[in-house]
Amino acid sequence: MSGSAQTLAAVAERYEAVRARIARAGAHHVTVVAVTKALGAWAIDAAAACGIGHVGENYAQELVAKMPEVTAAPRPQVHFVGQLQRNKVKVLASTVDLWQTVDRAELAREIARRAPGAEVMIQVNISAEASKGGCLPSETEQLASVVSDGGLSLVGLMGIGPLGPPEGAREAFRSLRHMVDTLDLNHCSMGMTDDLEVAVGEGATMVRVGRSLFGERPRRGAAARAGAERATMTGSQEIR
Ligand SMILES: *Cc1c(COP(=O)(O)O)cnc(C)c1O
Repeated sequence: MSGSAQTLAAVAERYEAVRARIARAGAHHVTVVAVTKALGAWAIDAAAACGIGHVGENYAQELVAKMPEVTAAPRPQVHFVGQLQRNKVKVLASTVDLWQTVDRAELAREIARRAPGAEVMIQVNISAEASKGGCLPSETEQLASVVSDGGLSLVGLMGIGPLGPPEGAREAFRSLRHMVDTLDLNHCSMGMTDDLEVAVGEGATMVRVGRSLFGERPRRGAAARAGAERATMTGSQEIR
């Protein structure tokens, strides 16, 4: 088997295992978003080849740089799942299909301006950890109004479980699902590699998994350096 066929077989096998975990946790209609941050375009292609129709990316620059290298057709839907600066919306607007991390009014307004009518989720900080991003649960309803008033399509809420053992995320996940129901939204995006059973058990309709599909990620600095090296090599080839 060639290297890429081997990679593909490995991802396919891991995807089966993820689907089995979801089924054992009691659900079937859960959308799997393959989180491909810190990985090359190959990971997006591998996800697509395995029939995964959605990928998640965290870093604006990285995403914009790798998209032209994606060969999968049709390409998967791209979810932006990282913390988002307002000034990055413009460069992402033609690439992102679903913005999962809207957590403040100015961001909602900028997306409405650059990507009119786009599908978005509000990220709610359900862990009370400042590093996680997200609006306060008490701010969610008001932000939902800003999103709708801007003509955006609010499809759900997104949350990240607290650090620590998976079971510790149960209450947070339950409260997110409760908010989704109160606002009468379609999607509840919660659960990652370590806590997806708890999330599915509490009513996730969408899980975001990276390591369980692709293995451990390279450290971000290392990935960026490798990218820079590739860029330099390409550059010198072009000169010749
Ligand atoms: C990295 C990341 C994921 C995937 O995490 P894994 O532990 O690799 O499954 C999911 N959601 C968000 C917001 C992330 O940043």
